[in-house]
Amino acid sequence: MTVTQTPLKISADFDSGNIEVLDASNPSNVRLAIRPDTNSPHLQWFHFKVEHLDVGQKHAFSLTNASQSSYNRAWNGYQAVASYDHEHWFRVPTTFDGTALNFSLAPTESQVYFAYFEPYSRARHDWLIEQAINKAGTELIAIGKSVEGRDIQLLRKGDGAVGKRKVWIIAQQHPGEHMAEWFMEGLIERLQEKHDPVMAQLLAAADLYLVPHMNPDGSFHGHLRTNAKGKDLNRAWQDSSRELSPEVFFVQQQMEKYGVDLFLDIHGDEEIPYVFAAACEGNPGYTPHQQQLEEHFRRRLSEITQDFQTRYGYPRSNPGQANMNLACNSVGERFQCLALTLEMPFKDNDDAPDVVTGWSGKRSKQLAKDVLTTVSEMVSVPR
Ligand code: ZN
Repeated sequence: MTVTQTPLKISADFDSGNIEVLDASNPSNVRLAIRPDTNSPHLQWFHFKVEHLDVGQKHAFSLTNASQSSYNRAWNGYQAVASYDHEHWFRVPTTFDGTALNFSLAPTESQVYFAYFEPYSRARHDWLIEQAINKAGTELIAIGKSVEGRDIQLLRKGDGAVGKRKVWIIAQQHPGEHMAEWFMEGLIERLQEKHDPVMAQLLAAADLYLVPHMNPDGSFHGHLRTNAKGKDLNRAWQDSSRELSPEVFFVQQQMEKYGVDLFLDIHGDEEIPYVFAAACEGNPGYTPHQQQLEEHFRRRLSEITQDFQTRYGYPRSNPGQANMNLACNSVGERFQCLALTLEMPFKDNDDAPDVVTGWSGKRSKQLAKDVLTTVSEMVSVPR
């Protein structure tokens, strides 16, 4: 008797979905490709659902164009994530053969999701904004619009009183860096804690200006790097426009309106298996005071958590050689303040690896809470 199997069904037609099916006829060699960002050659983010799996049988998937991705060195030491319920994610055995990224799974259920990293959904974003307003006591002070008309919320914790430090934290300019909004969730979670003396100290001296998600169009379309116009928002801080990069244009307007005393831009890094911070040392107007503040931030955060370190990161810019199109450099120069890009790994923190999850949403959330502790100590430093 011949048993006819139901063919695998593979879909990505949902929030942050991205995959192209080349050939799904052989469950032990499913051939797929990552779709490039809209109006851009960037590609790396993937997220798809597989149905009609044979429980207990090994299934193998091949992302055949992985070597053409934006960061093709990122695949060395990388493990893809999977989830049966889209809530609990785990790493699966993954190899890169120089051309394709290959991963396999003998599933315990008949359907599974795979992704580049634990996705932060638009539905969860909407829930997070409600939590921020109703539970964390933040105020929605402005709403920008993306190219396609999605909301970009600016939240403030604090009353905007004269003399308060203005701490800005923005996230996910790069839409595939979903760890960035997990970070924002951790931050908003800490704002909900009662009797937190560290937060009381912070909020007595500072207001927090939060943009939990800078690039909702890009995330929705399953992009790695760009908005709906193909613009890399973190290269748009010198020439932002209503047409091509309204997301940055909006935030810059709001920064001019309220001012900035400290700026953190939250990202994920594809290649480096550590958490690190990049600063604006290559700015033409870089000051010794900015340097002291950076050193203070890095030292304290690395003392507070094993999930931050200072040995690995990007090469430092030479004096005057900063790329001013980056948010960190642009804001640091404009406001002469501490300005940092905070990078979390897609892979894991090799100083404290977790073989089940790798770097994760949960760990991104905890890092945010530790960053708030660090910032609370810094708002009392004289300007
Ligand atoms: Zn980034």
